[in-house]
Amino acid sequence: MWEFKLPTQVVFGEGTAGTIAERIAPLGERCLVVSDEVVSGVPAVTETIAALDAAGRFNDVESNPTVANVNALAAVARNLRADVLVAIGGGSVIDCAKAAAAIAPGKDNIERYHTGGAQLEGLPLPLVAVPTTAGTGSEVTPFAVLDDQAQGVKAPMAGPQLYPTLGIADPLLTHSMPKSVTACTGMDALAHAIEGYWSVNHQPICDLLALDAARLVFRNLPTACREPDNAEARHDMCLAALLAGMAFQLPKNAMVHACSYPLSNRFHMPHGAACAFVLEFAIRLNTPAMGGRIEAFARHCGFDTVDAMVAGVRKLKEAGGLPCTLPDAGIPVDAVDTLIEESFHPVTKNNPVEVTVDDLRRMYEELA
Ligand code: ZN
Repeated sequence: MWEFKLPTQVVFGEGTAGTIAERIAPLGERCLVVSDEVVSGVPAVTETIAALDAAGRFNDVESNPTVANVNALAAVARNLRADVLVAIGGGSVIDCAKAAAAIAPGKDNIERYHTGGAQLEGLPLPLVAVPTTAGTGSEVTPFAVLDDQAQGVKAPMAGPQLYPTLGIADPLLTHSMPKSVTACTGMDALAHAIEGYWSVNHQPICDLLALDAARLVFRNLPTACREPDNAEARHDMCLAALLAGMAFQLPKNAMVHACSYPLSNRFHMPHGAACAFVLEFAIRLNTPAMGGRIEAFARHCGFDTVDAMVAGVRKLKEAGGLPCTLPDAGIPVDAVDTLIEESFHPVTKNNPVEVTVDDLRRMYEELA
C-alpha cells in the first residue's frame, strides 16, 4: 500500500522566474518578498524582485534560520497585512518563509510547533518558493530546519502547512552559486535521493524520482563545480534537486541526515557536506539489507557495482573540495563519542537496517 501526493504546483525552466508577477496575481495582492543579504545582491535575483510590485521586503534571514527569525518575519507579514509570501534564496530563506507563512495567520510563535511538539493547524499564507541553490528541494517539501538557540536545538519540523503553494525552479538563478555552495547543495540532493530510496517508507513513484535525481547528480555535479556558467550542468542540477526533493518528501530521510545534524550543530559543517561526509559508509552499511535494490540504483547511475558508486561519491566530494576525513573537517577524535551520541535523531528509524553505536564507531574509525 502506498500513496503519492504533492500539493505544491511546480514550474521548472530557464526564464520561469521572469513570469513570477503573473503567477502570484491569483494568490494575493499584498506580496512580502523574503530573501537574505547575499542573494538579494545577485543581478538575476534583483531583476526578479524588481518585477514584483511588492508591498514589503524582509532581507534578514540568517544562514541558519532561527526561531527568532521566523517570528520576526511572521510579525512583519501581519503588520504589513501581506496575503502572499515570495521566498527567493537557498534552503534557509525558503525554510524560514515556510515556517513564518504557517504561523502568520494566527498570533503564535513558532517555538510551540518546532520544539513544543504541537501540530501546525489552520491554513498558512500562500507561499511561492524560488530556489537559488540546487540541493535542498525545499521548494517541494513539507519540512523546515530551524535553530532554537535558547533550547540549543537545531532540527527540522514537518507539517502539511509547510508545503509551498508554488515552487518556481529557474536554473538561471543558480548560476551565481560559488563552487563550495554548488558542491554542498548538490551532495544534499544526492543524499535526499538515496535516503528517499532506501527509507523504510519508500514507494514506487518516489523511487523513480530518486533514481533519476541521483543519475543527474553523478553526471553533472563536477561540471557545475568547475564551470559555474555551464547551462546544461546547472539545468540538470536544478532538476536533480527538484526530483530529489519530491523523492524524499514522503518517504523522509534516514541515517545520513540523522548523523549530519551533530556535524552541523557542533562543527558548523554545511548541511550537504555533513550528509556527504557519512554517505559512503551508510551505502555500504545498508546495501546488504536491500535485496539488490542498491545494486540496481548503482547501475541506473552508470556504475557496474555498488563499490564503484561509493568511489563515485568520493570523487564528487573531492571535485567539490568537501572534507573526506575527520582531520579535513577539523574534528578532533575525542569529539567522536559526542557525535555518536547525538546521531540518533528520530529519522534514524526510517533506515533500512537498525543503526548501532558500534556501527557509528566503525564509521568514525574509517573517517579518522
Ligand atoms: Zn538534506
